[in-house]
Amino acid sequence: MEIVLATGNLHKKEELSEILKGHKILLPSDLNCSFDCIEDGETYLDNALLKAHALYKIVKRPVIADDSGISVPALGGAPGVYSARYGSLEGEEPLESEERNALLLKNMNEISDRRAFFVCSMVLLLDEYRIYTVQETFSGVIAKKTTGVEGFGYDPLFYLEEYDKTVAQLPSDIKNTISHRGKAGASIKDIMDRLDRQ
Ligand code: IMP
Repeated sequence: MEIVLATGNLHKKEELSEILKGHKILLPSDLNCSFDCIEDGETYLDNALLKAHALYKIVKRPVIADDSGISVPALGGAPGVYSARYGSLEGEEPLESEERNALLLKNMNEISDRRAFFVCSMVLLLDEYRIYTVQETFSGVIAKKTTGVEGFGYDPLFYLEEYDKTVAQLPSDIKNTISHRGKAGASIKDIMDRLDRQ
C-alpha cells in the first residue's frame, strides 16, 4: 500500500518506514505538497485525527497521522500532548529537543517518582469515512542525565530498567518492537496487510 505520512519529521518517517515494512511511506513533500496543521486538540487522538483529515483534504489518498508525547505522572501528566512544545508559549518557536530535555530534567529535580510513559495515537485514514485508530503506550523512567545518540526527542532521557539503557542507546529495531509508535504501527500494519490482500 502507498501511504502519505502527515508529518515533516524525518525521524518519524524513518521509524515508520521500518515499522510498516512492505508498504511505501511518502511525505507530503514527496508529492510537492506543503502540509501544516494546528494541533490544538485536547488529546493525542484528537490531534492525530486533525492531522489525518487535514492531509487527506490535500492529497486525496490514504494517509497515516500519529500524535505522540511523553507523560510524567509526578508532573501531573506533563509534558503530555504539549510534548513537542514543552517550555514554549503558543505562537512562539518551539524549543530545541536538547532544551526541552534540559527543562524536563530541571522540573524533575526534586522529584523521586521518575516513572514516565510515552503515548502514540495512530490513525490510518483511507477516506473521510474509513478510519482506523490505535493508541499504545511505552513505560520507563526519566534518567538523571541524557545518554545516547539514537532516536530523537526525549529518547536520551527515557531509561529502561530491563535493558539498563536509555532508548537513545538502543538500536532502532529494538526500539521499534517495544515503543509506543512501534506497537501502534504494528497494529496498523496488520490492517494495511489485510487491506492489500482484499
Ligand atoms: P508530535 O510530532 O506532535 O507527535 O510530537 C511529539 C513530541 O513528543 C516529539 O516532538 C518528541 O519530543 C516527543 N516524542 C514522541 N515520540 C517520541 C519518541 O519515540 N522518542 C522521543 N520523543 C518522542
